[in-house]
Amino acid sequence: MDKVNWKFDNTYSKLSKSFRELIKPTPVHKPEIIIFNYQLAKDLNLDFSKVSNDELSNIFSGNDLPKESQTLAQAYAGHQFGHFTMLGDGRAVLLGEHLDSKKNRYDIQFKGSGRTSFSRGGDGRAALGPMLREYLISEAIHSLNIPTTRSLAVVKTGEKVVRENLLEGAILTRIASSHIRVGTFQYIAATQNIENLNTLVDYTINRHYPELISSKFKAYDLLNKVIERQCSLVTNWMRVGFIHGVMNTDNMSVSGETIDYGPCAFMDYYDPKTVFSSIDKFGRYAFSNQPPITKWNLARFAECIVPLIDKSEDYAIKLATDLIDNFQNIYEEKWLKMMRNKLGLFGEDKNDKKLITDLLDWMKKNKADYTNTFCHLMDIRSNDDIYKKTNFLAWIDKWKKRSDLNNSSKENQIKLMKLNNPIVIPRNHKVEEALTDADKGNLDKIMKLLNILKDPYSSQDITSEYHLPAPKSSKKYQTFCGT
Ligand code: AMP
Ligand code: MG
Repeated sequence: MDKVNWKFDNTYSKLSKSFRELIKPTPVHKPEIIIFNYQLAKDLNLDFSKVSNDELSNIFSGNDLPKESQTLAQAYAGHQFGHFTMLGDGRAVLLGEHLDSKKNRYDIQFKGSGRTSFSRGGDGRAALGPMLREYLISEAIHSLNIPTTRSLAVVKTGEKVVRENLLEGAILTRIASSHIRVGTFQYIAATQNIENLNTLVDYTINRHYPELISSKFKAYDLLNKVIERQCSLVTNWMRVGFIHGVMNTDNMSVSGETIDYGPCAFMDYYDPKTVFSSIDKFGRYAFSNQPPITKWNLARFAECIVPLIDKSEDYAIKLATDLIDNFQNIYEEKWLKMMRNKLGLFGEDKNDKKLITDLLDWMKKNKADYTNTFCHLMDIRSNDDIYKKTNFLAWIDKWKKRSDLNNSSKENQIKLMKLNNPIVIPRNHKVEEALTDADKGNLDKIMKLLNILKDPYSSQDITSEYHLPAPKSSKKYQTFCGT
């Protein structure tokens, strides 16, 4: 398969046994390629144009492994809903790291590829619906200009998986800048092997923060950088109304990419308490809890590397605590900037925060759609009666007065808003509709949705079903963990 131009350079497999188990994917019965992301392949400098569907099916099911791959399951731990557990890739294998033409390094991973020593009671497999869901939403998040793992392929295995019902089995090929999670650090820290911990810090810096290679305070600087990237990531989620749904520490990448699309969904009517995941009974991962949970996860990360921050434990804890405590300030600053961008406000005014929270309060009280309210402010789809209410018009007056301080043209204001406010997002009912059809073998709707979501910031000639939330009468939307 050299014709596709794989350039594997596998570094994770060279780490000691504590980090991974070398294991092959379990071959599948009758693989069939369902979706392949030719554009992403091209961006990775891979050429599948001369590869038949049969060959694609065999490659991306793991039945025909690329020669230079060295498959392994990664060890990691995690706080799942606050409870610490030793985990690891129980249904995934890393094929290795592929280098593109600019020497950017990408993990190529199969999800749903069979049992490993980390599978615990699980079957090591994944169902078609959740894998297509990850493909769809991860690609949508990418097009929204938010860092994320990507999806290259989904293959049906031709085998059934046993869940509540019998479902079609599938394997997703996931592309990530790495799969190093907060939970990876937790796993190594739990083994209390300081040499391995040092190795992991160095490895992470080499891969994601090369500017720190010659730092004298690597662990401290790494913590600082990871805080910064995670803070930017969660600010981006808040910008587009994305609810990750399962922000366990094992689902938080130290590279700052969105990872592990299970029960995630986009908020429609604005309510900071929105939760879609059926297992999130107490709203731990509700929309407005995402920033404080990010901070909580970062504190778990900090605990892992405390021994490397300073020889004096007390002093190391103080340094780490100061950085973590500063999360709130960094977030507040990023959030304000992000919301100003959404409202097309240049510069800063002392009343900006009040102006923003007044709008959010209004949206909550009036059950206004988060995405469409900002569209209305950009003069797109402006005919909903809700925006004719006097209390909204009073807010608009204040917004216009503040906009007068912009020292910039109306065109520039709208330009800034259009860069920050999506016009179309993956609407929950449209996602479900597409997945239901896909499960029956009809991919038309998922293909159409994928196509629309490629360009979320421009007005497209699409029917209202793609930009309206599900009718209020329809039953509460619930998502389930992607197993
Ligand atoms: P996730 O909910 O996908 O983030 O997975 C949490 C943990 O459960 C990870 O260690 C997974 O590898 C493991 N896991 C999830 N589903 C399965 C499965 N079907 N078989 C084995 N392990 C699984
Ligand atoms: Mg996970």
